[in-house]
Amino acid sequence: MDIKKSRVQTQLTHLGRAPEKHHGMVNTPVYKTSTIIFSKAEEIIEKEQIHHTDKTYARTGTPTIHALQNAMSHLDGADNSVITSSGMHAISLAMLSQLNSGDHILLPESSYRCTLRFVEEELPRLGIEYTFYKPTITNELETLVQPNTKMLWMESPGSGTMDIQDIDALVSIAKNHNIITAVDSTWATPLFFRPIDLGIDIIVQSLTKYIGGHSDILLGSISANGQVFEKIYKCFLNCGTATSPDDCYLALRGLRSLDARLRQHEKNALKVAQWLETHPKVEKVLHPALSSHPSNNLWKKYFTGSSGLFSFVVQDCSTDNLYKALNSLSLFGLGLSWGGYESLAWHYEISGDRAKTYLQDNQRLIRIHVGLENPDDLIVDLANALNNI
Ligand SMILES: *Cc1c(COP(=O)(O)O)cnc(C)c1O
Repeated sequence: MDIKKSRVQTQLTHLGRAPEKHHGMVNTPVYKTSTIIFSKAEEIIEKEQIHHTDKTYARTGTPTIHALQNAMSHLDGADNSVITSSGMHAISLAMLSQLNSGDHILLPESSYRCTLRFVEEELPRLGIEYTFYKPTITNELETLVQPNTKMLWMESPGSGTMDIQDIDALVSIAKNHNIITAVDSTWATPLFFRPIDLGIDIIVQSLTKYIGGHSDILLGSISANGQVFEKIYKCFLNCGTATSPDDCYLALRGLRSLDARLRQHEKNALKVAQWLETHPKVEKVLHPALSSHPSNNLWKKYFTGSSGLFSFVVQDCSTDNLYKALNSLSLFGLGLSWGGYESLAWHYEISGDRAKTYLQDNQRLIRIHVGLENPDDLIVDLANALNNI
């Protein structure tokens, strides 16, 4: 059976390993090397163009790294991928590879905080302009397009407030103006959202989150086709991007259980979210799979599942009380990441005008990642914490 044509659960089990090439080893081994030895001098010709599956030097990839790279491109439905040292590096590389001095990028104001910071602090000194747009924008995006707009960035759902973007409307505007489209699809993984099928050019993911799944690695990936990928690969080589084969091995291992983990995260998160919706101290729950979320229809249109990360707004409360509540959590760790097996909570601050759309005076946003604990225990933990509010 052709694995690439099989269902995704089968692909997750088989992609990125080839026992016949590795002495029958079921898993692709960790190749620890910097140098690759050639058997004949004639083979060491400095290539004009290095192909992204060539083995010339460990920075351009070893069998462990290529195994993950191939698995990611198949899962994303793209021709090619590169693996980067972090999700954030995938984001910066995706932008730097496509944007020139004088270009302009459009970006949702709900983007991952470090993405916003990279754009604000690094792009202007390269002469690249940016405009932030509301994540719920549709046809009005047209009015923000400038003659020099080169890239449309998306992140769906957006960090913190979980707005789902109207991908069809945005992609069609971008296509009319020859604008390259990119999406940070870390939340959904290739299981729940298929950006390439919707005409998006570049998919960026933090593999640190669900693909790794065990809070012990940092990695990212970029998938794309054709000319767009060629530019990404050139920039990847020229910037000296490299990844650890140990981390790539762990990401491959994470893929094996991704479907089972993600479905459990989804189930647990929905149970916790539905309980939070009934809690008197909770003003609203921002989970796109709940019918109460303003983006619920768009989530139904574009996604086939939801994961473990969402937010909720707590009523009128001082910073002291909020911190008391967070500090009293015992199962939820206080942590900035997500996507691992464990539950995490964080006070997510929305900056600027956007806060007014979501929060009234003294309301606070808490972002939680629902892990693989029993959700009934997580509910008890949250109930105790909310008593402080
Ligand atoms: C965590 C995160 C990233 C960055 O990933 P790292 O691997 O930590 O660099 C990018 N995008 C989103 C949406 C994230 O949550």
